[in-house]
This record gives sequence, structure tokens and C-alpha cells, in this order.
Amino acid sequence: ESLRGEASFDRSPRQVPGYQYSRVEPTPVADPQLLAWSEELADFLGLTKPAERGPAVDALAGNLVTPSMKPFAARYGGHQFGNWAGQLGDGRAICLGEIRAVDDSAWEIQLKGAGPTPYSRRADGRAVLRSSLREFLCSEAMHYLGVPTTRALSLVRTNDEVVRDMFYNGNARPEPGAIVARVAPTFVRFGNFQLLAAAGELDNLRALAHYVIRGYYPELGEPSSAVYVQWFAEICRRTAVMVAHWMAVGFVHGVMNTDNMSILGLTIDYGPYGWLEPYDPDWTPNTTDFGSRRYAFGQQPNVALWNLWQLARALAHLVDDPEALRPALDHYTTTLETTRHELLLRKLGLTALAPEEDHVLLGALHEALADAQVDMTLFFRHLSHAVPALVSSPDTGAATARELLGAVSYETEAAPAPTALYQWLLDYTLRLRREPASPEATREGMLRANPKYVLRNYLAQQAIEAAETGDLSLLNELMEVLKTPFAEHPEHESLAAKRPEWAREKPGSATLSCSS
Ligand code: AMP
Ligand code: MG
Ligand code: MG
Repeated sequence: ESLRGEASFDRSPRQVPGYQYSRVEPTPVADPQLLAWSEELADFLGLTKPAERGPAVDALAGNLVTPSMKPFAARYGGHQFGNWAGQLGDGRAICLGEIRAVDDSAWEIQLKGAGPTPYSRRADGRAVLRSSLREFLCSEAMHYLGVPTTRALSLVRTNDEVVRDMFYNGNARPEPGAIVARVAPTFVRFGNFQLLAAAGELDNLRALAHYVIRGYYPELGEPSSAVYVQWFAEICRRTAVMVAHWMAVGFVHGVMNTDNMSILGLTIDYGPYGWLEPYDPDWTPNTTDFGSRRYAFGQQPNVALWNLWQLARALAHLVDDPEALRPALDHYTTTLETTRHELLLRKLGLTALAPEEDHVLLGALHEALADAQVDMTLFFRHLSHAVPALVSSPDTGAATARELLGAVSYETEAAPAPTALYQWLLDYTLRLRREPASPEATREGMLRANPKYVLRNYLAQQAIEAAETGDLSLLNELMEVLKTPFAEHPEHESLAAKRPEWAREKPGSATLSCSS
């Protein structure tokens, strides 16, 4: 009980057996200042935008804890890069409690970077502006793209300096500290269950399963062995839908450890993530993963399945027959495939009129894209606009296909050679001609499925570099545009441009480390 009742600021590694979480107070920061505020989420939560400084910002920085807050850090474990890491826990995130939204739903508010907790091990419990701005912008951008995700309410800068081993300049240099208030129904992860199972704390494991089912899966009814099985199937389904969305927009999470997998199937823990620019299944932004490429874009479906396996092993302690959990894993694979397929059909403006044929066509697209060096986001966006011209006549179609490839290609040669992707475009055009909808209607549908704006890696980095010098203009511009990523924003055309050559290998723009 004493462990739960008070935090220790002793930074030595510390085990907290028997507990789901530890009560801990945030550690105050110097002069917190509000940099960004998510207006729409705030409205939903019934919160009004505070001034740059003041009591509300103090609360968002952890400097002010009101009597109704019951701050805590959760205890969880996880597999990191495939290896069991034992107890991890919220080392720098502190949950303030729950808040009721205007529709009466309950949301946890968590401060990331709010200071050490019993789970900080030897780290400082802090976050830098660089990584906090990335988390803030990307989690909101993902929401507006329709990807299941945790949200971010605020980004607060502090006047404290935080030192990280900056891989890109070789030296540790102090950086501005920051705190993101992130928001989700719950931040419970696969790793919470894994740790309790690994520690043999089966009563605790059952209690946590009850808590999650009753609170977040109430439609399943009262927990029982059969309900655990259905629950696991639903977790598998949601995880599949989440990963299918990542694959459809070109999002690479970067560090899909089991402690970074939400029990609600939400994208969680925005660290060394990145967006595909050239379509490359082997690409990962995470420098820590350059050797094994375990978390590369094309691996994500398999890794999520592996992670679900680890969750199944933990939940096996709760069910009469662990074998009953197995079908859910197969269900994951089919849900993932069907969802990816449906999302891709929408991106291509195709209805389900030729299922067999379309499987071949869509499969060929992945391969053609992978060896074509084209920008994924721009390819689909330009394709949408090109539909009427593609189908108008064979000559115009061929010319349009060539022009399209030229516009979205990263090849340096002036004219792209007729590639597999060019051939694919001709096949696609034939298929498109058979669609009953008008080309214009097809184009409009595709424009609603293919974003023009994603948080390109180099843009996030430019926003960071500006924000570090006090210039928030790019951060604000990105926030605004990424709210409606499917719309045209003629005055923000540059945010939809192909990645410039200088950004190709630039650290921060193209590569990131886990440590942030
Ligand atoms: P991540 O790679 O972000 O999922 O983090 C893995 C573990 O390291 C989690 O338990 C984090 O809470 C912890 N962690 C990461 N950065 C820090 C930090 N600066 N201070 C304390 N704990 C941290
Ligand atoms: Mg994490
Ligand atoms: Mg992280």
C-alpha cells in the first residue's frame, strides 16, 4: 500500500510487484508556456483555450494538481524488439485522471514528460520539445485522417533544459523541455497484461481484465472465460483495422513493442515514427532498428500479429482452454487483409465488381510501387485527379500516366523509363473504364480517400527547428492544414510537395532515434 500511496524520486531501477499503478505527483517545471492547443478536442472535452501562461497551463504542465486529480503512473512490461524486457511502466507519463466529455464519455488525460515516476529507471522522466511537437502534431493528424489513435490536447514548452543523446550532432546538447497532454479512453497496453502474467499475479491480471472489459468493452457483458475469448477476438479485430489504416496512409510506427500496443486498438506512443515518401516496404525511420528492420513499413502487419500472440499468452491464464484464443489470431489476419483491400479499393475508386481480378490488380500495385520510387501520398492524390483523363482515350490515358509518374517520381533521370507501374496504370485504366460511376464521381470519391497532406518527416523537423527559436508559424500552419488533409489548400501548396532532395538522408527529417 505504501508503494501506491507515495512516489519515490529515487531514480534507481525499482520493481513494484503487486500493483497496477503507483500514485505519483508530477514534478514542477520552470515557466510553462502553451505552444499549441487542439481546439476541436478541447471543445469536445468541454475545455476552453487558456492564455499562454496561467493556472490552466500550470495544470497542463504538472505544476498545479487540483484536489480532483489523482495522478498515477501505470505499471506494465513488454517485449522490446522481440525480447522480454520485464517491468517498464510509465517512466515519464503521468495520468491526471479522467475527464467527462460533452457526450458524457470518460477520457484519461496524461501528461507526457511530467517528471520521474517509480518506473523511470535511470531516465529523467522528461521529454524534449522536438519529440513532444512530433507527438502532438502527428496524433492529431492521424485522427483527422480517420486512423484510430490517441489524441493530443496541448503542447506546453518549459524553461527547463533537457539533455538527450542527440545522435545527429554527436554531442549531447541541452534542448527545450516540453509536455504533451495526451488523451484516450484508456492508455492500458498489451504490456500491462503481459507483466502481470509474467509475474504470476493472476488475481491482478483478472482484475485488470475486468476493469478493461467493464469500462471499455461493456457490450461483451460480465467477464467469464467465454467473454475473455470474445474480448481477445475484438482486440485482434481492432488491431487489424488500425494496422490496415497505417498501411493505407503510409504510416510507420517505428517502435511496435508490446508496451506500445493499446488494448483499445489505438495508435499509441508517437516516437520514432515516420511517413513513407518513396513507397518502400523496407523503410523504417528508426535508427535503432536499422539492423533488423523489424518495424519497417511492410513488417507492421506481421509484428502486430506477433504482439497479439504475446497478449494471447498472457490472457491464456484467464481462460479454461487457451486453444480457444487461437481462432482470433486467424481472424486478425483475415480482418487485416479485407480491411486493407477495402481501403485500397476506395483509394483506387473501384467498387467490388470484379473481386478475383482486383486481387491480382491490387497485389501487382504493391509490387509496382515498391520498385518505382514514387511518393506514396502524391501518387494516390495525382491518380485521383487523373481519372477523367486516364479513361478519356487510350492516347490521352497513356500520356496522362506518363505525366503522372513524372510528377510523383523520385527518380533523378529527366524522363522515367516505362516501368512496371506505368504498365500497371494502363491495366488499371482498363479496369476503371468498367466502373458504372462517372469518372468525375470516381475522382471525387478518391479525393476523399487519398489525403493531399500528411505530416511529412522533413516538415515536422522544420516545424521543430522553427519552434525551438520561438517561431510557431509552421507548427500553426501544419495544425490547420492537417485538420482537413483531404481538402485542397491552395495557399499551403508547399506542404504537399514532394520531399526535397536535401531532406533525403537528413537526420530528424528522415531518421530518428528511439531516445527522445
Ligand atoms: P518507449 O520506447 O517510448 O515506448 O519507452 C520505453 C520505456 O522507457 C517506457 O517505460 C518509458 O516510460 C520509458 N522512458 C522513455 N523515455 C523516458 C524518460 N525520458 N524518462 C523516463 N522513462 C522513459
Ligand atoms: Mg512507450
Ligand atoms: Mg515513446
